[in-house]
Amino acid sequence: MKTALEQYDPQIYELIKQEATRQSGSIRLIPSENYVSKAVMQASGSCLTNKYAEGYPGRRYYEGQHVTDLIETIATERARRIFKADHANVQPYSGSVANMAAYAALIQPGDTIMGLSLVHGGHLTHGWKVSVTSRFYKSVQYPVSSETGRLDFDHIRELAKKNSPKVIVSGATAYPREIDFEIFGDIAKEVGAYHVSDIAHIAGLVVAGIHKSPVPYADVVSTTTHKTLRGPRGGMLLCKAEHAGNVDKAVFPGLQGGPHMHTLTAIAVAMAEADTPEFVAYAQQIVKNAKALAAKLLEYGFDLVSGGTDNHLILIDLRNKNIPGKKLAKALDRARIVSNYNTVPGDPAPPSNPSGLRIGTPAITTRGMKEPEAEQIATFINTVAENIDNEAVIEQVGKETLLLCSQFPVPEHFIKNDG
Ligand SMILES: *Cc1c(COP(=O)(O)O)cnc(C)c1O
Repeated sequence: MKTALEQYDPQIYELIKQEATRQSGSIRLIPSENYVSKAVMQASGSCLTNKYAEGYPGRRYYEGQHVTDLIETIATERARRIFKADHANVQPYSGSVANMAAYAALIQPGDTIMGLSLVHGGHLTHGWKVSVTSRFYKSVQYPVSSETGRLDFDHIRELAKKNSPKVIVSGATAYPREIDFEIFGDIAKEVGAYHVSDIAHIAGLVVAGIHKSPVPYADVVSTTTHKTLRGPRGGMLLCKAEHAGNVDKAVFPGLQGGPHMHTLTAIAVAMAEADTPEFVAYAQQIVKNAKALAAKLLEYGFDLVSGGTDNHLILIDLRNKNIPGKKLAKALDRARIVSNYNTVPGDPAPPSNPSGLRIGTPAITTRGMKEPEAEQIATFINTVAENIDNEAVIEQVGKETLLLCSQFPVPEHFIKNDG
């Protein structure tokens, strides 16, 4: 029997099917991507998409909220519990909006924010020049050390003292090492700044206790829900009790209208999943896989920023291999290995054609791959790099990746892929 979607819109149905096939038939190494469970997918595709729920539980601007109030209360309680936070707001549409809301809750337009530079691993919304965050606020960007690839806290403290930011942002989008949130908290206190910590990438590792949590050391913690946390696409804010009112007001009515209730519902499900021993094992395996992949890449002579990884991601500096990041990313994609080109600290090349490649292990870990497969993937990457202009070899690697994928099925989706 044909599904309603297939009957009504065969063109879009076919494209979704193609994407399902791509997702199951490729090694997905983009560190911000994952596969949600069937339960999360069902909640996300539920009738909650039909409901407007502007406001907060018990304080809505429309009627018919007895179910939405219960769901949002459960989601908020689960968030507070798994992150051990005083207060949680589960309404932000995405990580970017969550960051805007964090700033709006704490400071005024024209105040100074200080975050990690995009080309050193920070996020656009940490004050990068093309982001509105650098128009609404004065922005000071700190680098990582070009020699070590690591955060240099003496330098960060010096910059903070010199520029007196009102907000210091910790957290990154391409940083392979554990971040010491406690030091960020100390520096913020020393200069009278608020500490906003953005754990979009590592939230799953934080919940599992594998990465130190910023919650005790930050005024507001911002995260996405769809990266290592493995929920639907969304955002979330956690904060100390004293900021609860301002954070809630910044999200609604400050920046948003009605929350996406279907997403919020699926976030609740993802957080129940995150509160299990299975999730802790998954998070531990993410790091084991990343370390195994990194070790093998080092054996093949790849240069890794900071020399390795403590978390879910690896940043390869390709300059010693003389291959531009984009060229390798595109060749890997033809071999069904999906990554993204990325700047490396001190990159002489522009972000549009940088010298690095960013890879990570959350998605392969979700589909059950372990250290032997991680090492196998390093070998695939090396083979493609060594044969970057040889399409026959790249095609052969593509066949091998497909075979590997077939042994590790992805969570079931309502539109079946073709295998
Ligand atoms: C992914 C990411 C975001 C943005 O999340 P979106 O949901 O894409 O808006 C914000 N901060 C960091 C550090 C991220 O890695």
